[in-house]
Order: sequence, then structure tokens, then C-alpha cells
Amino acid sequence: MGELGGFLRHGREGPARRPVALRVRDWREVYEPFPPERLQVQAARCMDCGIPFCHEGCPLGNLIPDWNDLVYRDDWAAAMDRLHATNNFPEMTGRLCPAPCEESCVLGINAKPVTIKQVELGIVERAFAEGWVKPRPAAVSTCRRVAVVGSGPAGLAAAQQLARAGHSVVVYERGEQAGGLLRYGIPEFKMEKAVLDRRLEQLAAEGVEFRCRTVVGAPPGWSGAASAASSGGSGVASAGGSGGSGVASAGGSGNSGPTGPAGDSGNSGPKSGAYSNHYSDQSSDGKRIAGPGAPWTAEPLATPTGVSVVSAASLGSDYDAVVLAGGATLPRDLDIPGRHLAGIHTAMAYLKPANLVQEGALAATPISAEGKHVVIVGGGDTGADCLGTVHRQGAVSVHQLEIMPEPPGERPGSNPWPTWPTILRSSAAHEEGGERLFSVSATQYLDDGQGGVAGLDLHQVELVMEGGRPNFVPVPGSESVLECELVLLAMGFLGPERTGLVEELGLDLDARGNVARDANWATNLDGVFVCGDMGRGQSLVVWAIAEGRAAAASVDRWLMGDTSLPAPVQPTQMALR
Ligand SMILES: Cc1cc2nc3c(=O)[nH]c(=O)nc-3n(C[C@H](O)[C@H](O)[C@H](O)COP(=O)(O)OP(=O)(O)OC[C@H]3O[C@@H](n4cnc5c(N)ncnc54)[C@H](O)[C@@H]3O)c2cc1C
Ligand code: SF4
Repeated sequence: MGELGGFLRHGREGPARRPVALRVRDWREVYEPFPPERLQVQAARCMDCGIPFCHEGCPLGNLIPDWNDLVYRDDWAAAMDRLHATNNFPEMTGRLCPAPCEESCVLGINAKPVTIKQVELGIVERAFAEGWVKPRPAAVSTCRRVAVVGSGPAGLAAAQQLARAGHSVVVYERGEQAGGLLRYGIPEFKMEKAVLDRRLEQLAAEGVEFRCRTVVGAPPGWSGAASAASSGGSGVASAGGSGGSGVASAGGSGNSGPTGPAGDSGNSGPKSGAYSNHYSDQSSDGKRIAGPGAPWTAEPLATPTGVSVVSAASLGSDYDAVVLAGGATLPRDLDIPGRHLAGIHTAMAYLKPANLVQEGALAATPISAEGKHVVIVGGGDTGADCLGTVHRQGAVSVHQLEIMPEPPGERPGSNPWPTWPTILRSSAAHEEGGERLFSVSATQYLDDGQGGVAGLDLHQVELVMEGGRPNFVPVPGSESVLECELVLLAMGFLGPERTGLVEELGLDLDARGNVARDANWATNLDGVFVCGDMGRGQSLVVWAIAEGRAAAASVDRWLMGDTSLPAPVQPTQMALR
């Protein structure tokens, strides 16, 4: 594999980032292209270690040493085939994956690991450039129909696998366009949307049908009066769709009307059949119209106007199987005094319109950081995406708060190879500016006297483990004030939305609030499967693709009695830790 002893001769090298001063003035991807000849040298570092732990580190089980060797030998077309054998969307993982494979690379025990992620990206970009990535429609149709709800990486992977197995696949997506968080969460500077669009074209050419602006399950506030896009009538699905398998219903009630406001804003409800537009509830400067003191409820993910509703239960009569891949979209909140003030937003409420502007679907974002002092609460990847967006919108200053202590720069002994190391990670956005504050907690939002946020009261905290659980104890005398006009809450997600689809179908949830599934990715409803963040909880693109592939194999077996589709992960499988 690779060049014999190559790891002794060549050091690790990756692509350069574009200069900060240049890249913050646009939204294009941060990294420069990496020349193929230099990538071949990097592939040559793969050391034929005998037991490639990188296979274990990658949830997809990518055949990493194989394609490293093929790249080293200049056989890029064969490398592409090996790569696509395990990964539907390597151009996405090649850009977005935190690369747990590299943390478990054997070379990484005492040297810098192979640049696996970069080799992956190099192969697939070469393949697209050469025109090798072509639609692979199924040769034979099974005459089975499958509905996929949600078009994030899990739904897309499941859809592509099932279409290639010969099933007729329809993907329902409530957003303006397909892609889930790949389109509306992850900013352009991490992955330009043209990358997503060219892959969607492949899926469409393989027969996958996309029905965007279509929400499955009555959203909160839906009156049920108009525009049910499917047979939302009785709501009780048949148990005998074509092919005899059918999807059993849980006695869902079709378009049964409002399901309660939990997790939604104080929107007054839909207007003439359309799911009401979140943006219309804000003034032009992004401030909420609800006045100071109004009870606050979680900010919804913006949903476009002109959305049709399909009753969740009606899918049962129209399809032989249903795959739920609706993501984990319920944001964690920081509900301290002052939460009602204008200028406090969840990360996705902020990132989605910013992304819509970049793809030309929105003229201007209602929540801009331009000319503002900004505080981002949450030190993770979502916070870093907010940070990069804030820089590009022209903020005056930005602080990113993290309640956890600053992690070490190197793996501690308690966190050994090949596990995922909890170390300080700095993204491209951190290089662009802003200040990170660790071991800090906010106690209240400050009022500017006009109903807007003026800052945060903070104090330092000390992490104390009590009965195996973390407790954050305030450090006496450490109080401070951080002034700002915009607060972005990027503290993670609590799981799938419990209203709408989940409630309408009567889906069982697991102890963590995710949609429960058995060893075959099946929910408590016959013929209804779940994959991605909706079943796993907030995770990564690579896990979503792996889950989509594995769930597709179970669906195929359920429909046909057998399957030749691969299943790279089990529903309970966890990252190496
Ligand atoms: C800001 C941000 C940045 C991230 N960056 C990275 C990264 O760099 N690398 C990485 O590996 N991971 C990243 N992640 C995590 C990653 O994006 C997710 O783990 C992944 O997208 C989950 O895929 P999914 O298909 O399960 O769900 P999602 O991508 O969330 O897609 C679910 C889709 O289902 C749709 N939907 C939900 N309910 C319905 C319904 N009832 N009817 C119709 N449609 C519905 C939603 O609109 C959505 O489009 C990031 C997450 C966020 C929030
Ligand atoms: S998908 Fe992620 S973990 Fe798997 S090989 Fe690519 S970078 Fe590594």
C-alpha cells in the first residue's frame, strides 16, 4: 500500500487557506485547491499498517488504504470507484468531516496521520472534473414506492441507495430546496452549494423525485383548512400498499389541526393555507415584534411561504415504506432573565437566512451582525459557523462563550489513540478573528431600555464532578459584563421536533427524546424507518450518510425479503471512544 517507507520520507501537508483579509470579504470556500501531484505524495504516506484502524474510525468503513494506494499509483478512476463503494457523498465528507479516521490512523501514534480527508476530497473532485460521476439508475424497477421525509445527508443517502435498488423514491422536504443542514446550516465558506446541487442532479437523474416546500405532518399552528398536498383525509393509512407490504398507521389523524405551540414561536398561525413565514414576524432590523415582557417560546427554524402539507399518516396509503430523516432541529435554549429581548436568536434562525441570501433566495437577512458587537454562546462547530458568518457580515466585535474549561492542546493520557481526542480545535473562522472565553456562564441578558439586548452578565465557573455528573460552580468575585447588540445561541440541539410528524404518527421516543428504532432501523410503526439525527440525535454528516445507507438496506430487505445493499453501521453503534 502506498510507497514503501513513504511515511519516513514525506511530512504531512494540506491545502493552504486563502488569506484572511481576502476571504472575509467574500463567501467562497476557505481552502485553496491542492495539486494532485502533492496529494499523491500524501497518499504515499499510508504505511500498509496491517490493521487499518482508520476503517474503524470512519463510520462509513471507507476503504482508505485501498484508495490511498490507487492515488499513489495514479489510478484516479479506480480510486473513485473504491470511494463511492462506501460513501455516496465524499465531496461533502471531504469538506465537512472532522475526520475521526485520521485520529485513529496508525501513523498517528507517533507521527502526523495521513491526510485521509484531503485524499478523499481530491479523488472525488478529480472524478467530477473528469466527468466520471454519472447517474447510475437502476436497471430494473421493483414497483415499490418509498417516501423519504427530510433531505439532509441521511435522507439523501437513503434515497440514493433505494433508488439504485430499483425502488421509486420521493423525498419530501419542507425547506425551499433539498439538502437539510448541508444547505441551510453549513455556510458557503465551508461548502459552496454548487457542490450539493451537482450531487442532487445525479440523484434526480437516477429517478429520485424531490417535493420541496412540503411539510409532512401538520406543523404547529396549521389550521388544516387548505392545500393538503396528499390524501390527508381519514389519516388512517392502509396496510396494503402495492406489493403487499404497506405501511401500517398508528391511527394518525390526518390534517388534524394545530398540535400546540411547544417549540414554536408566538406566530399567529398560517395565512391562507401556507405555513406562516417566520420572517414576517420580525421588523426589518430583525427585532421581534413581540414586545418586552412577552412570554418567550423557542424560535422556529424559518419555514418558507407557500408550503404544502402532507398528512404523515397518508404516506401509508401512498407508499410501501417510509424513511424518516427529519433531523434533530430542536435548539437548546439559554432561558435566563431577559430572554424576551430583541436581538437574541438561535443559531439556525440566524444561519438559515444568511445562507438564503448567499443563494439569492433572500435579498437581505433580517438578522445581520453588520456594525454590531456580537456574543455567540456555545464553543462548538455551530458556534464557529456563526462566527465565520458574523465576520463576513461585518461585525464590530465578537466573543464566543464556552462553559467548559479550555481543552488541552494535545491528547491527555486518559484519551489515548485511537479514540477521538477532546482537544482544543480551532477552525478557519477562529483564525479570522473574535475572542474565545472558556469556563464562563451567563446569568442574564441586559436590556437596552428599548426592548433590545444590550449585553450579558457573566461569571467564571469551575467544573466540579459530582456523582459522575458535571456541575459548574460560580467563582466568587468573577462577575463581569459583556456588551453586545446581538446574541446567537449555538448550544446544540435537543433532538427532533416532538410536534407535527412525530406527534401525528404517535412515534415512540427513546430516553434521549430521539425517535426510537430497533436493530433494523424500524420505528414502532410497521414499515416506517428512521435514520440520521432524528434517531441518533445531533451528530455528523458522516454518521448521517452511514445511517441513511444502513437504513436503506433494512428497507430494501423489508420490501423484498433480501438485500444486497451495504449496512455500514448499527443503530446503537457509537464513535470510538
Ligand atoms: C450549523 C451547523 C453546522 C454543522 N457543520 C457540520 C460539519 O461541518 N460537519 C459535520 O459532519 N456535521 C456538521 N453539522 C451536523 C450535520 O449537519 C448533521 O449531523 C446532519 O446534517 C444530519 O443530517 P440529517 O439528514 O439527519 O438531518 P438534517 O440535515 O437536519 O436534515 C433534515 C431535513 O428534514 C427536513 N424535515 C424535518 N421535518 C420535516 C417534515 N416534517 N417534513 C418535511 N421535511 C422535514 C428539514 O427541513 C431538514 O431539511 C452541522 C450542524 C449544524 C447545525
Ligand atoms: S468520511 Fe470522514 S471519517 Fe470517513 S474517511 Fe472521510 S474524512 Fe475520514
